[in-house]
Amino acid sequence: MKKRMMQMAMTTMLLTACGTANKEAVPADDFKYTVEQFADLQILRYKVKDFDKLTLKQKELVYYLSQAALEGRDILYDQNGKYNLTIRKMLETVYTDYQGDRADSNFVNMETYLKRVWFSNGIHHHYATDKFVPGFTQEFFREALKGVDAAKLPLAEGQTVDQLCDEVFPVIFDPDVMKKRVNQADGEDLILTSACNYYEGVTQAEAEAFYNKMKNPADTMPVMFGMNSRLVKENGKIHEKVWKVGGLYGKAIERIVYWLRKAETVAEDDQQKAVIDKLIAFYTTGDLKTFDEYSILWVNEQNAKVDFVNGFIESYGDPLGLKASWESIVNFKDEEATKRTETLSANAKWFEEHSPVDNRFKKDTVNGITAKVITAAILGGDLYPSTAIGINLPNSNWIRSVHGSKSVTIGNLTDAYNKAAHGNGFNEEFVYSDTERALLDKYADLTNDLHTDLHECLGHGSGQLLPGVDQDALKAYGSTIEEARADLFGLYYLPDAKMVELGLTPDAEAYKAEYYTYMMNGLMTQLVRIEPGNNVEEAHMRNRQLIARWAFENGKADNVVELVKKDGKTYVKVNDYEKLRALFGKLLGEIQRIKSEGDFDAARNLVETYAVKVDPELHKEVLARYEKLHLAPYKGFVNPVYTPVTDKDGNITDVKISYEEGYAEQMLRYSKEYANLPYRNE
Ligand code: ZN
Repeated sequence: MKKRMMQMAMTTMLLTACGTANKEAVPADDFKYTVEQFADLQILRYKVKDFDKLTLKQKELVYYLSQAALEGRDILYDQNGKYNLTIRKMLETVYTDYQGDRADSNFVNMETYLKRVWFSNGIHHHYATDKFVPGFTQEFFREALKGVDAAKLPLAEGQTVDQLCDEVFPVIFDPDVMKKRVNQADGEDLILTSACNYYEGVTQAEAEAFYNKMKNPADTMPVMFGMNSRLVKENGKIHEKVWKVGGLYGKAIERIVYWLRKAETVAEDDQQKAVIDKLIAFYTTGDLKTFDEYSILWVNEQNAKVDFVNGFIESYGDPLGLKASWESIVNFKDEEATKRTETLSANAKWFEEHSPVDNRFKKDTVNGITAKVITAAILGGDLYPSTAIGINLPNSNWIRSVHGSKSVTIGNLTDAYNKAAHGNGFNEEFVYSDTERALLDKYADLTNDLHTDLHECLGHGSGQLLPGVDQDALKAYGSTIEEARADLFGLYYLPDAKMVELGLTPDAEAYKAEYYTYMMNGLMTQLVRIEPGNNVEEAHMRNRQLIARWAFENGKADNVVELVKKDGKTYVKVNDYEKLRALFGKLLGEIQRIKSEGDFDAARNLVETYAVKVDPELHKEVLARYEKLHLAPYKGFVNPVYTPVTDKDGNITDVKISYEEGYAEQMLRYSKEYANLPYRNE
């Protein structure tokens, strides 16, 4: 599970008198955090703070793991849609080899389209999952493709360029073909109407029946069935094509394993070596029990400075929430900032005991909650270029309850977002008055970080399922409910006197900054991410609207939160912060009950009532106001470049880091150096 940036654009202040420190005040520096902007996207750069302070062996480890993180890139493209690699290759070839007028609007719009494809790892929006509308004509693209060297095009055996166009153009240009990557519309066949490439020729009912049959309700340690395969129907028989060495995506996985083997030679200790070894075993066999063993080793690996995620992890891209997209992050511990989250972890028991949740749903013993602030060193797969700011793994419920989970917040990425957003005019436009703006200026950076910490360190790890409750009982609503649970846990505790007592918040007022931004975001400003006429689809966005709308509606009698008009513009106004806290606590109790009891109907009812529908008038207004700011609602990152320095015998003597590579430059290089899968769907 991962947590994305909450505010897409929040002005920040220097971390002034917050006093809680553990997070250093950030002096202005001349590092260039912004790279470029197009469509609804802004590309940023992050700084790998203190990379130079790593030992040579640690640097070497980061280098090998970063290579392993990049080798799986094409897997995600293929998971996101069966034509993505074909289309990317067609676009890139025209982009690099086109001899015509590159200032022509068709070419310029094709360039933007390609940049969006790179960003989304496919032809559907990374967040909304709708298919992009190309701003160039079929005629232009066909002619352009015929003008380049055909040997560079992803032609099938014996195929002409015209035939390639005839085959692929409907996928690009016909709005009705593969129009949504992940369809969540209640009542439709979610598999047949989703363009993701996790199922081939099977219906939702067939897929559900296939996996239900595998489940044994008596098994207290169930593997996550289906997470590493495509489910296909061939000759009337349904079976899994497993992603492993020698299986589907085998060529890319072999490259990942190649670098993991090198990483193993410079592992920091035996436990880390065992982790890498087990991951290799999983990639080699595709065996899900092995994956669970790996996850347990990984959770218990606590001492090494460098850590990583590499594998099939996130299930947001599958409408059924079973199949896991490939992703990777390599990171190392930020010792200073980690003191903050260690304080939370050390008090996990207190937080669990005092949460406004029925005692039956609480954990008796709070196990293995570890939390650290990390510095990202490379992002790959489903974490690149759009990324998370916090991660809590593993996803397996039984492993989480028996062995605990590892929680991280990614300090250098949050920092880059904040630096890039400084002074962009967003708060001036959307925040109700100077009072709230002053509050945000004073506390929002800190309270946002703390909310992330609470969400990751304590929220996901809190509570328990009642005996016999199926971990997938909430089905398509599971992700939204789980994210809401973690968010509410954080919201409930931010104002607590315990937070001041622990030295995490400077005073009893600070939480109001997060409350205000959370309500403003959930009720209004996150709508900037949604196209006119669409509903809220993505799990994290649904969760935020669910919480904000629910609190708004249920606080109406007491006028807790208002939407007020000023000069024709709508603003969120919080009238009673204490009552708002009580509402968050009440909803947390109910959401935990739903999760613990596996109450599917209640989950559906909450999500469908509060989280999905958008007020079209307010939506229109927010989009118009936002447009005037010329900001991009989504951000992503280019990676730094690591270059090993070797002596005459080929031994690595240093690893250099550089930040010069541009966006298109990096994408084209990755497409060349990490082209591990056939351009045609396997
Ligand atoms: Zn989360």
